[in-house]
Amino acid sequence: MLHIARKCATQISGLRRLSTALLQDKALIDGKWVSAASGKTFEVYNPATGSIIAHVPDMDSTDAQKSIEAAKKAFYSEEWSGLTAKERSGLLKKWFRLLEQNRPEIAAIMTAESGKPINEAIGEAVYGDSFVEWFAEEARRIYGEVIPGPVPNRELFIMRQPIGVAGLITPWNFPHAMITRKAGAALAAGCTVVIKPAEDTPLTALALGKLAQEAGIPNGVINIVTSGREHAPAIGELFCKSPDVAGISFTGSTQVGKILYRNCADGIKRLGLELGGNAPFIVFNSANIDKAVDGAMVSKFRNCGQTCVSANRFLIQENVFDEFASKLKERVEGLRIGDGANSEVKVGPLINKMQIDKVAHFVEDAVSKGATVITGGGRLKELGELFYKPAIITNIKPNMVLYTEEVFGPVISLMKFKTEDEAVKIANDTQRGLAGYFFSEDVQQIFRVARKMEVGMVGINEGLISTAEAAFGGIKESGLGREGSRHGIDDYVYLKYMCVGNL
Ligand code: NAD
Repeated sequence: MLHIARKCATQISGLRRLSTALLQDKALIDGKWVSAASGKTFEVYNPATGSIIAHVPDMDSTDAQKSIEAAKKAFYSEEWSGLTAKERSGLLKKWFRLLEQNRPEIAAIMTAESGKPINEAIGEAVYGDSFVEWFAEEARRIYGEVIPGPVPNRELFIMRQPIGVAGLITPWNFPHAMITRKAGAALAAGCTVVIKPAEDTPLTALALGKLAQEAGIPNGVINIVTSGREHAPAIGELFCKSPDVAGISFTGSTQVGKILYRNCADGIKRLGLELGGNAPFIVFNSANIDKAVDGAMVSKFRNCGQTCVSANRFLIQENVFDEFASKLKERVEGLRIGDGANSEVKVGPLINKMQIDKVAHFVEDAVSKGATVITGGGRLKELGELFYKPAIITNIKPNMVLYTEEVFGPVISLMKFKTEDEAVKIANDTQRGLAGYFFSEDVQQIFRVARKMEVGMVGINEGLISTAEAAFGGIKESGLGREGSRHGIDDYVYLKYMCVGNL
């Protein structure tokens, strides 16, 4: 139980301040820290060491129903939606300040349960906190419209109103930011939320909830239902079918996103989806190759490649292919791999057995179909069960899963191309359209290619593009809606048209 977590946490090297006060082993419903109604728990592991960090409530749809009722009660009590925008903004700012003050502790929890290197975890904490700050500011700018009427004596208005209870389902790869990017927007709009964090990383979610409570966000406004893998589908279905849940926001696999989309059809329920990508990363002859290599490293190896916007297919123009490949090889071979609690480590473990098996399968599939391994590949059992050696693979063909699917791991697939048209065609040859990157110093090419790329986000001479100020989201099968930016509020408000006549 929690004592194991405390012992484990204090053993993590490289972490000077780990606040055990933020390690919660109960879920949060209606302001109370509770066990599952069934009394069951599930284990949370440290993927670097395989040790158990904590046991948390293995909740099912009975508990999820209670949390929906708590969120509904809190919404209709108007303790939150009835506050002025300035008051809501003030409480969100308080939450932000507490998050900021507790960054090292939150980062330590993230590293322990997700395996991401501690410096990246701190980076995620900064990024995650920025959504609470951003939406605290946006809360005061959820403006309506006054429309000139078409006939005399008629005034037309549009108001933006909170939808009600929002169900938020989040993944393990960004255990902090995927929650605050959704919850920050929902709360700013005046909604109340039920959060179902990923089974691999519930502890970060609970720590965020604890600080929200300390900030004075009223009971029932944020509810957190922890559950093991087994109960996730039933909880997801309940969110989709419950008339008391007004909207759902999901980040995760395209496969689960499609299930939720189907299940939301009957209730015509609002749904925001942030799903998988298959990002192209193009390096044109005109590019600065050193900058392109820097961009490739940051885009690919952040979070061990387990990022939906991670570059997946590297398309390199023939004149610069050899230079790019050899500089990249040197950098990849210099990566330090290990337990992310050590601040020198750049690449940690994969999150779980399913992920490492998937990565290994993708590489085996490519090699069996004629791909060549330039460097790396293979499991690093001497470090632990979930470590995979960063790899560069070339001679990639469209019949390989490395080409058609996102690998979600530390593997670079290199392809050579001749012309710009060919590169754009390959880049767009996917049903995923989340992010895309290209490196070019030719201004006309920059605008031409940016327009042609079928993605929701494009990085030009940049490998790291996500920020609270800009709209995050995809097209095609990569999702619906946008998070962050002023558009991030849209999923949590509806437009109400008001016609005032005969004045
Ligand atoms: P997943 O989609 O299965 O899980 C994401 C979240 O959905 C978790 O909270 C999980 O408990 C929940 N979930 C699982 N099944 C559900 C269901 N039927 N209904 C409702 N919720 C459900 O993702 P995963 O298994 O953790 O990873 C599988 C693949 O998904 C990865 O290899 C990667 O390609 C992709 N992925 C993408 C992102 C992203 O940011 N877009 C994040 C995580 C995983």
